[in-house]
Amino acid sequence: AKAAGRDTHRFFAEAMNAEAVAHLSTRSGLRRALERGEFLVHYQPQVSLETGAVVGAEALVRWNHPDEGMIPPGAFIPIAEDSGLIVPIGAWVLAEACRQAAAWQARGLPLSVAVNLSALQLQRADLVRTVTGALADSGLDPLLLELELTESMLIQNTELVMDNLRRIKAMGVQVSIDDFGTGYSNLSYIGRLAVDKLKIDRSFVADLTGSHDSARITTAVIQMAHGLNLNVVAEGVEDAETLEALRRMGCDVAQGYFLGRPGPAEAVERAARQASPF
Ligand code: C2E
Ligand code: CA
Ligand code: CA
Ligand code: CA
Repeated sequence: AKAAGRDTHRFFAEAMNAEAVAHLSTRSGLRRALERGEFLVHYQPQVSLETGAVVGAEALVRWNHPDEGMIPPGAFIPIAEDSGLIVPIGAWVLAEACRQAAAWQARGLPLSVAVNLSALQLQRADLVRTVTGALADSGLDPLLLELELTESMLIQNTELVMDNLRRIKAMGVQVSIDDFGTGYSNLSYIGRLAVDKLKIDRSFVADLTGSHDSARITTAVIQMAHGLNLNVVAEGVEDAETLEALRRMGCDVAQGYFLGRPGPAEAVERAARQASPF
C-alpha cells in the first residue's frame, strides 16, 4: 500500500509537470540544464540470485529542475534524442557513473555500473574515445563498466556500430542487451555479436508468477542465454514470489523495486554493505 501510494503521488507529479516539461525540454532548455549541472544519476541495485549480494547498479539519469523538481528520463530523453543532446548528456552520465563506481571500488566495494546508451551514441565515431576517456579520468576498472543497448539499436548493423562494439568489448567493458524480448529478437545476431548479458524485460518478469506463458518464455530465455554463455538479469522484480521463481529458473541477477528502487549512490552502498537478504 505504501509503494502504491508513492506511485500514485509520482503519477500525479508527473502529470502535473508534463506540460512544463514539454516546454522546458527544448534543445535550449536541455542545454541550459547540462550547463547548470541540473542532471543527476540515481542508481538501482542489482542482486546476485546465487549469493543475495549486491553486485552492481544501473545508472538512471534524472533532471532535478529548480522549479519542477525531479523529472524522470521518460519525459526528456526522447527530446534529447531528437535534438542530438543525448550525446553530451549521455557522455556526462557515463563519466559520472564511472566516477561513482571508481569511488565504490576505492572504498572496497567492487560494484559494476550499467549505463544506458542511445542509438545516436552507438552510431558515433567518437564513442570509443568517450568511453576510454571516462575510464581513464575515473580510473575505473573496465571490467566494472557495462553498457546497455537495445535490440533495435543492433539491427542497423552498420560497420561503424559493429566496430564500436568490437572495440568496446576489446577494452574489457561488458555489453548487455536491454529490454530483451520486446524487440526484433533474432537470436543469431546475439551469438555473432558476443554480448555478455541479456536483461529480460520487465513485461515478462511482471507476470511470471501469474502467467504460464511468461514463465515458459523466461525459462527458455535463461536456458538459451546460458547455452550461449551469457548472463541473465531480470528487471522489474516487484515481489518475493517472483524473486524465488527466477532463482529456481537459474537466473543470475535480479533488479527491481522489491530489491531496491533507484536512488542516491549512498543507498546502494548501504545495501551492498549489509548482510545478503537471503
Ligand atoms: P530502462 O533502461 O529499462 O530502466 C529501467 C526502468 O525501470 C527505470 O525507469 C527504473 O526505475 C524502472 N524500474 C526498475 N525496477 C522496477 C520495478 O520493479 N517495477 C517497475 N514498474 N519499474 C521498475 P526510469 O529510471 O524512469 O528510466 C526509464 C528509461 O529511461 C530507462 O529504461 C532507459 O531506457 C531510459 N534512461 C534512463 N537513464 C538513461 C540514460 O542515462 N541514457 C539513456 N539513453 N537512457 C536512459
Ligand atoms: Ca536499462
Ligand atoms: Ca530495461
Ligand atoms: Ca526500457
